[in-house]
Amino acid sequence: MATQNDCCVKVSLRIRPQMAKEKIEGCHICTLVTPGEPQVLLGKDKAFTYDFVFDIDAQQESIYRACVHKLIEGCFEGYNATVFAYGQTGSGKTYTMGTGFDMNVSAEEQGIIPRAVHQLFQGIQQRRDDAQAAGTQAPEFKVSAQFLELYNEEILDLFDSSRDPESRGRKSNIKIHEDSSGSIYTTGVTSRLVASEEELLQCLKLGALSRTTASTQMNAQSSRSHAIFTIYLCQMRVCSHLMNGSADAQMNGVSDGPISQPEYETLTAKFHFVDLAGSERLKRTGATGERAREGISINCGLLALGNVISALGDQTKKGGHVPYRDSKLTRLLQDSLGGNSRTVMIACVSPSDRDFMETLNTLKYANRAR
Ligand code: ADP
Ligand code: MG
Repeated sequence: MATQNDCCVKVSLRIRPQMAKEKIEGCHICTLVTPGEPQVLLGKDKAFTYDFVFDIDAQQESIYRACVHKLIEGCFEGYNATVFAYGQTGSGKTYTMGTGFDMNVSAEEQGIIPRAVHQLFQGIQQRRDDAQAAGTQAPEFKVSAQFLELYNEEILDLFDSSRDPESRGRKSNIKIHEDSSGSIYTTGVTSRLVASEEELLQCLKLGALSRTTASTQMNAQSSRSHAIFTIYLCQMRVCSHLMNGSADAQMNGVSDGPISQPEYETLTAKFHFVDLAGSERLKRTGATGERAREGISINCGLLALGNVISALGDQTKKGGHVPYRDSKLTRLLQDSLGGNSRTVMIACVSPSDRDFMETLNTLKYANRAR
């Protein structure tokens, strides 16, 4: 039987604090975390266990430490990673991911993305310093980023400053491709090459702003779209095992060629940060035409993601088919979910009894991933 550690998808649950409005209106808390266990009890008798459970008082820092820190380290070794926040609108997805880039947010309140960007550039500096201290050649790093929004199975480029707001909603020429090694890449997407933490955060703020403005212009809510922020890390470093190999060969007198040049290896990794569309069911009344279509296609992405993640969980047993092609979302994330990549799902819920049914739906969805 697979243990928790064998599974390539980790699932965390985060319960946000009650908002002032909920307290004023007399909502009761209907979630109870079992002390010392990653388990939550919803209502009287619905118990769920995950890899981690964060109760209402959990700090941003502890969520980052537990869920994301290791994944950034993995990127330096060439492993792709994905973190996504799932849950109904208002459950804390954007707060947790840090996709909103609120300038007024204090250091403690920063979400996952700014923390990851910080760790990444710190890691780069650390490796340069280490190489200098050891008198070896420092690796070369390139960091670039993309920021996409998925709306109605349409891909929008949040970094495309030339984009005419009026043209939103029309077909973009962004395409998703797969190369012969199974890597997924896009064409027609703006890639920002950045040299520092500040530069990357500045790009992000502009992208986040573009998302809000565009949503307003489209008379739509950003809660109906998925935001996918991706960091690409490309690293060229001296290949240590090849160096050792050739040194051994020379010592054994096997190599009679000229003194060997250092060999290089290029490692690439990408990290997707996904702030998913609200998981709430569309109300049937009044949902006609455009609205109804939106509802259906948002469910299509979330539904496909749920199916992919649950198929990944089953794969160890069956080696079954993973339905990546069922939505743009899962297609984009294909090479960063499962396989050698690391995936963390953070299910976000409200503690209040008025959200009981949506919370139950989220807990069930998250449970399928395990
Ligand atoms: P979503 O993106 O899921 O719609 P938000 O992240 O926008 O939800 O959160 C809704 C509101 O709750 C926001 O005002 C946000 O600042 C607040 N909030 C969410 N989670 C927390 C938390 N853990 N601590 C404090 N405030 C939070
Ligand atoms: Mg949000």
